[in-house]
Amino acid sequence: MELASYVIRQRRRHKDRLAYSDKRLEDFLAAMQASPNGVVLMDADDRIEWFNQTAAQHFGLDARRDAQQHFTNLVRDPVIAAYFSARDFQHSVLIAGRSSARSSAQRISVQLHVYGESRSLLLSSDVTAIEQAEAMRRDFVANVSHEIRTPLTVLGGFVETLQTLQLNDAERVRYLDLMAQQASRMQSLVDDLLTLSKLEGSPLPSEDGWIHVGSLMRQCADEGRVLSNLVWGSAQEIHVDFDAEDQIAGSESELHSALFNLVGNAVRYTPADKSISVSWRCEANGQGVVTVTDQGIGIAPDHIPRLTERFYRVDRSRSRETGGTGLGLAIVKHVLQRHDAELKIESTFGSGSSFQMVFPAHRVRVQVNPSATLVDQN
Ligand code: ADP
Repeated sequence: MELASYVIRQRRRHKDRLAYSDKRLEDFLAAMQASPNGVVLMDADDRIEWFNQTAAQHFGLDARRDAQQHFTNLVRDPVIAAYFSARDFQHSVLIAGRSSARSSAQRISVQLHVYGESRSLLLSSDVTAIEQAEAMRRDFVANVSHEIRTPLTVLGGFVETLQTLQLNDAERVRYLDLMAQQASRMQSLVDDLLTLSKLEGSPLPSEDGWIHVGSLMRQCADEGRVLSNLVWGSAQEIHVDFDAEDQIAGSESELHSALFNLVGNAVRYTPADKSISVSWRCEANGQGVVTVTDQGIGIAPDHIPRLTERFYRVDRSRSRETGGTGLGLAIVKHVLQRHDAELKIESTFGSGSSFQMVFPAHRVRVQVNPSATLVDQN
């Protein structure tokens, strides 16, 4: 009798223990399922025992169809084949992702870790964004170096000329002028780079620091006239048009930088005898729009989507001749993004362009005209 109850007790305990281990295994697999990385468990012959959803997506695997298959038979990639045959798993390898759900190219980093008795754990992660950021950083450094090297080479050439040739006074003045031009080109480039880096590193602009749009527009137009004199030798007509004392919430220095870049471009890409206008309007939905319109050279439609890329220029030499860095519209776009605003560009090649900065309603405050309010109240 005692023996029988002992056996029953032992059986129950054994069952409990099994249930407990099943539960632990389930929890463990659920944790691996939740991992942001792809996880594949394989036996000593590289046959798949288990994988999570992320791995299924990275390698295009199917849970029902692919269990017990050799990993290298399913993921047919020369890099994976070489990795598995060399059996040196100290480092990771990069392959193209196989997700059918994605339309754009995906880059997957894969590393295998051997554990236990030759079983292996393969981990994968999506490094597409990291690779893209790295490529952009490389391009940017190459572009900056190129942009700085060009004026530096010219400047060096002039210095050498001054050092080696006997020049008369007029020639010396001319050379020094040319040197000053190159130095100022480098200065503008460094200034724009610093502006961009400040934008990237500083806290987002406040939503309750209110700036009068009208005075910002007036100030940029005045500075535009000074630039116009410098570029063309005479000031172009710059009309400023705003109704009331309306305000935008944000950073004054950033918005000034954005608007002046647009006015500056209008000046530089519009012939001296044509005019420019800077206007403000408040839409019925509460959005506020600052528009800079010119009667300049215009932009062909193909170029428009790329204008805000760093160093993208339609006409490199025209941009440089008028003191451009190729960073102006990148700065504008960045400033606007930080203000939840948008840049819209419309242009007709040969007859002019219009650049709009569109601010959301929560950043726009329309000053109610006091006399109009009085009339309403009466
Ligand atoms: P840049 O310093 O070269 O002017 P931006 O980033 O300010 O650089 O502008 C990029 C390019 O967009 C310019 O090189 C020019 O080709 C074109 N662009 C910008 N504004 C205008 C405009 N108002 N009219 C015609 N083209 C323009």
